Amino acid sequence: MDKEGWTDNTMNSIDWTAHGTYLKTIPFNKKVNVVKMCHDWQFNKHRAAMFEESDDNLCPLICKEEEKKLHHLRCTKQPGATSITRDLADIKR
Ligand SMILES: [Zn+2]
Repeated sequence: MDKEGWTDNTMNSIDWTAHGTYLKTIPFNKKVNVVKMCHDWQFNKHRAAMFEESDDNLCPLICKEEEKKLHHLRCTKQPGATSITRDLADIKR
């Protein structure tokens, strides 16, 4: 918890049963991606620039925004952006 900077409030706000149930239903490679996203371990241009593996931190889909945490869910150039936006709106309800 300290390593991730999560608070008790964050930990208590997670439906761990639903999280665990979902993880058991998906293939291993998707599970890896979900866990990486939860812990902000996904590789992106922001991280590449941090480790000097890239000269810039801009989105490779040329949307002119910085590619950082969860950008792929908001990027307007992402294939399927319309359905992603719709699905996120459904989750927020
Ligand atoms: Zn983008």
